[in-house]
Amino acid sequence: MTERTFSIIKPDATRRNLTGKVNAVIEDAGLRIVAQRRIQMTEAQAKKFYEVHAERPFYGELVEFMTSAPVVVQVLEGDNAVARYREVMGATNPAQAADGTIRKLYAESVGENSVHGSDSLENAKIEIAQFFTDADIVG
Ligand code: ATP
Ligand code: MG
Repeated sequence: MTERTFSIIKPDATRRNLTGKVNAVIEDAGLRIVAQRRIQMTEAQAKKFYEVHAERPFYGELVEFMTSAPVVVQVLEGDNAVARYREVMGATNPAQAADGTIRKLYAESVGENSVHGSDSLENAKIEIAQFFTDADIVG
C-alpha cells in the first residue's frame, strides 16, 4: 500500500553536509521525497515533537541537539513507506545498525543518529501535519 512517512535529517548530518548523501540512500531505496524544507527548529517545536520522551533522561539533551543546527524535514512516499524507511534508517544505535543503512553509514552515536522516521502510520500523519500543509506535498 502506498503510504507517506515523515523524515528529519538531523543536525549532525546537516552540519557535515550530508543532506544529499542521505537523500541518495532514501531514493535508492525506492522512496520518493514529495516535500522537503530546511528549517531551524525552535525549542518549542523540538519539545513538542519529542514530547513522548519528556520523562526520559536524555530529553533535554535531545531538544538541545535538535535545535543546535538546521534540520531538513521531509515527507517520503512509497510502498509501505513507514516500515520501509525504518528499515533504511537502521537501528537507533548506529553500533547495532545493519550494513547499508543510513545510521550505519553516517550516524555518530545513539543520540546524534542522523535521521528520524515515523514509527507508525498514525504518528506519520501527526508529524507531517506539524511541519507541512497539504499544499506543500506534491506527490
Ligand atoms: P527517531 O524517533 O528519532 O526516529 P528512534 O525511533 O529510532 O528515533 P526513539 O527511541 O524514538 O528512537 O528515540 C528518539 C531519539 O532520541 C533517538 O533517535 C535519539 O536521537 C534519541 N535517543 C534515544 N535513546 C537515547 C539515549 N539512550 N541517549 C541519547 N539519546 C537518545
Ligand atoms: Mg522514535
